[in-house]
Amino acid sequence: MNNKILVTKSSMPELEEYVDEISSLWDSCWLTNMGPKHQKFQKKLCEYMETQNIELLVNGHMALELTLQAMNLQGEVITTPFTFASTTHAIVRNGLKPVFCDIDPVTYCMDVNKLEGLITDSTCAIMPVHVYGNICNVEEIERIAQKYELKVIYDAAHSFGEKYKGKSIAQFGDASCFSFHATKVFNSIEGGAVCFKDGVLGEKLYDLKNFGIHGPEEVAEVGANAKMNEFCAAMGICNLRHIEEEIEKRRIIVERYREKLDSIEGLILNINQKEVKSNYAYFPVIFEEKIFGASREEIFKKLAQNGIGARKYFYPLTNTFECFHGSYNVMETPVALHISKRVLTLPLFAELDLKEVDRICDIIIECKC
Ligand SMILES: *Cc1c(COP(=O)(O)O)cnc(C)c1O
Repeated sequence: MNNKILVTKSSMPELEEYVDEISSLWDSCWLTNMGPKHQKFQKKLCEYMETQNIELLVNGHMALELTLQAMNLQGEVITTPFTFASTTHAIVRNGLKPVFCDIDPVTYCMDVNKLEGLITDSTCAIMPVHVYGNICNVEEIERIAQKYELKVIYDAAHSFGEKYKGKSIAQFGDASCFSFHATKVFNSIEGGAVCFKDGVLGEKLYDLKNFGIHGPEEVAEVGANAKMNEFCAAMGICNLRHIEEEIEKRRIIVERYREKLDSIEGLILNINQKEVKSNYAYFPVIFEEKIFGASREEIFKKLAQNGIGARKYFYPLTNTFECFHGSYNVMETPVALHISKRVLTLPLFAELDLKEVDRICDIIIECKC
């Protein structure tokens, strides 16, 4: 009974499938620098994500960071603090100033009603996050961005494989940045990608991920080393073959969680967004202590005592990080603060047994008083 359950578990293909995919590397001895696996993975992703333009990167963070660099931005970027460190860091590491917009209490994504009020003469871009795979209000963000001529770069790290109104999530904004980290719905061990509208951006990204080298004797940009290697691309190729089954397994697990927890007072479960084909990336629950009777911290501890790893995701907010000490005022994002103090994401991965889901839910329900 007391087997440990982690909050996530990486999806992997059968060993034979991966070995088969990488065996040609022993003939070519071409291990990185945009080799055949890189090209094949890129092509397969273009088909899957219904886009012409995709650049592969070493991870999701460099996707964000180099996209901002490729756009040559200056000034302020409006984003949210209810995200992984990566989003805010990508902005700051580009010498840009993050301006924090509060989040919507239902989707946990940027509250578009508060967006326009934050725009100044210095604003150059908006970087919203499709938190937990919940899709931002893309229509309103696009309307505002057009009105003020701002770039839109989505942190789409949680939204791989999703569609909104039948349209691939890769097609929104000027660019969408994905993470293929081992803990995500879809992984290439480590990896990332940018999907984008303007082909020129792709050429820039291609150079930037390879030290800014533009030709044999020309270094045109101060680039980084952010190339995806052949072993990671091969893992991505294999995992992509099974992605729809993986998402379907996640759906069944999420439905079980819902069934068990839906009627419990004081718990707020993640919404089912209409018109979204979800990837069931996370199962966040908000614990309203006054109604439920137990706090997020108590539930977190109780689960840990039972060998169950839930995650305070996202806590703390990025605008309260030690490294930004004194730079931002967390009181400007009260909804994000409220949610981050009460949220737990529960274990969710394709191979999670439904009996374990029941056990997790029973432990939570037992805490209710
Ligand atoms: C995982 C994640 C990233 C960073 O992706 P890596 O591939 O780990 O570098 C960025 N933003 C969000 C919201 C994430 O969850």
